[in-house]
Amino acid sequence: MDIIKDIEKMKIGKIEKNVSLKKYTTYKAGGIASIIVTPKDELKLIELLKYLKQNNIKYKILGNGSNLIFSDKLFSDVLIKLSFIDNCTINDTIVKAGAGCSLISVAMKASRMGLTGMEFATGIPGTIGGAVYMNAGAYKSDMGYIVSEVRALNDNLEIVTLYNKDLNFKYRSSFFQNHKNYICLEATMVLKKGDKNLIKQLIEDRKQKRIMTQPLNFPSAGSVFRNPDNDYAWRLIDVCGLKGYRIGDAEVSVKHANFIINKGNASGKDIHDLILFVKETVKKETGVDLKVEQEFVNWE
Ligand SMILES: Cc1cc2nc3c(=O)[nH]c(=O)nc-3n(C[C@H](O)[C@H](O)[C@H](O)COP(=O)(O)OP(=O)(O)OC[C@H]3O[C@@H](n4cnc5c(N)ncnc54)[C@H](O)[C@@H]3O)c2cc1C
Repeated sequence: MDIIKDIEKMKIGKIEKNVSLKKYTTYKAGGIASIIVTPKDELKLIELLKYLKQNNIKYKILGNGSNLIFSDKLFSDVLIKLSFIDNCTINDTIVKAGAGCSLISVAMKASRMGLTGMEFATGIPGTIGGAVYMNAGAYKSDMGYIVSEVRALNDNLEIVTLYNKDLNFKYRSSFFQNHKNYICLEATMVLKKGDKNLIKQLIEDRKQKRIMTQPLNFPSAGSVFRNPDNDYAWRLIDVCGLKGYRIGDAEVSVKHANFIINKGNASGKDIHDLILFVKETVKKETGVDLKVEQEFVNWE
């Protein structure tokens, strides 16, 4: 069976073959993906998924790749991008955004219209789908505070509505992480009317704070570890003297100890090995077992 030929015949949308995952991850690392399909719309997505399921072909949804660490091996499952599912409408205080929308663009659009509640998201470089999956958040807020409902595909490829209470939002966790076959298609966010100038100022202050404290001029995937209860992962890594520690081209950032940065041509393995080294060292030195917030893909 020639999967790529079959998918091409179905005219699903954009197809890329043998693509370096450096292009599709914010770490700019990882091996080659055999095929990345970007369906034209939801119907084509469903058609593609039907074909993949019928033929027992494995697949994975790829958002903006800002929380993923791919191995350097060939990734032969089908990667699906939802970049064309990117409609975003705002009615009064209700924002509806497709899973492929950039979270930052949606948050900026709502904020410019004087809506408050998404300021926290203006520095998080994921998609709406990836942000719902991860329950992305910052500054004591997260998607769980604003998402009222999500349109999703379930195991049987039916479109269902999941309400906030069903989505089980917890710190960097949601329903989707325990239901890997569900796909987020669209999220509805309920915001509040606010003062445009105050919103703008808050976003600007936080942007400056990020620039001051995070190594944004190097590829990374944001925070590597979840903060343990009543403490900060960066503090624990710092007390272990690990800032600047390097494996290959992967380095524990000197600016923010909970970021690992790609200083040039880091492989997936460099990043993987450095994460495990930091985890083991912190466990040995402080007794705290840090939990990795980022997702390893294709390491089995
Ligand atoms: C500089 C920088 C700063 C960051 N700051 C923050 C921060 O402040 N707070 C924070 O929480 N995170 C932060 N992150 C991490 C990251 O941006 C978030 O985790 C984001 O939510 C990931 O979204 P994504 O679209 O890139 O998802 P990806 O990394 O592409 O995918 C993550 C997971 O979501 C799944 N997925 C993606 N879309 C869907 C969908 N539609 N349906 C079902 N599953 C889906 C994927 O299969 C994968 O398992 C930062 C990253 C960087 C690089």
